[in-house]
Amino acid sequence: MPELPEVEVTRLSFAERIADARIEAVRLGKPLRWPLGCTPQRLEGQRVLAVRRRGKYLLLDLSDGLLLVHLGMSGSVSFGVGLPALGKHDHFEMVTSLGTLRLNDPRRFGAVVYASGESDPIAHKLLGRLGVEPLSEAFDALAFHQALKLRQTAIKQVLLGGEAVVGVGNIYASEVLFLAGIRPTTKASRISKPRAALLHRAIRQVLAQAIAQGGSTLRDFSNAHGEAGHFQLDAMVYDRAGLPCKVCATPIKSLRQGQRSTFYCANCQKA
Ligand SMILES: [Zn+2]
Repeated sequence: MPELPEVEVTRLSFAERIADARIEAVRLGKPLRWPLGCTPQRLEGQRVLAVRRRGKYLLLDLSDGLLLVHLGMSGSVSFGVGLPALGKHDHFEMVTSLGTLRLNDPRRFGAVVYASGESDPIAHKLLGRLGVEPLSEAFDALAFHQALKLRQTAIKQVLLGGEAVVGVGNIYASEVLFLAGIRPTTKASRISKPRAALLHRAIRQVLAQAIAQGGSTLRDFSNAHGEAGHFQLDAMVYDRAGLPCKVCATPIKSLRQGQRSTFYCANCQKA
């Protein structure tokens, strides 16, 4: 599943190239997770002013409104000139004066949604509950510790929930907890201030590094140039059950939390 770094890498791969493009035609394929919310004609003639990211949403600022793009479980965005013929998994296509933007999504949990602006009810519904951005100035170690103290569930689940901080998905949750030396099953409320500070630093470090390396290819990720990411080569614990810990050589363990796999080292992550 594309996580925050993959979405950011996708954004970086086409944001500058699409800026100021005029939308010429919009074609829809099979239904996605949510409907577009307007007619294709509503978008045609508008300009794409900028591409931002909030959590795992790409936000395309239009001259009149906003397009929210979510990659779901299996989505990928491509943008370019002279793309191949539409494939059976291409469910959204936007032809612009600077190139064609497509969402390819075999499982169709992704979506492209139009909103009149960020105060539009649909934008508020999708973006309103998102926690603080991990790479922004607003992500503060003390405030993060306060948010953890309020939560009685396992720290892994709190990270995935996205309300204390947004964008730490399943792969990166295992990695950041390893770096911070925290057992994934530890109750969030029991994490001390110094350990919350370690976790805060690990989150920023791992996500920034994954973006720099081009995102993860663990779930068929490729950016809008079709290039694969490289993060999985460097995973410390994720998907390494039974293999020796890279720090202490203890075999990595795995367990299920809320239907998702978690990986950890019982020796390096004692508390
Ligand atoms: Zn270890």
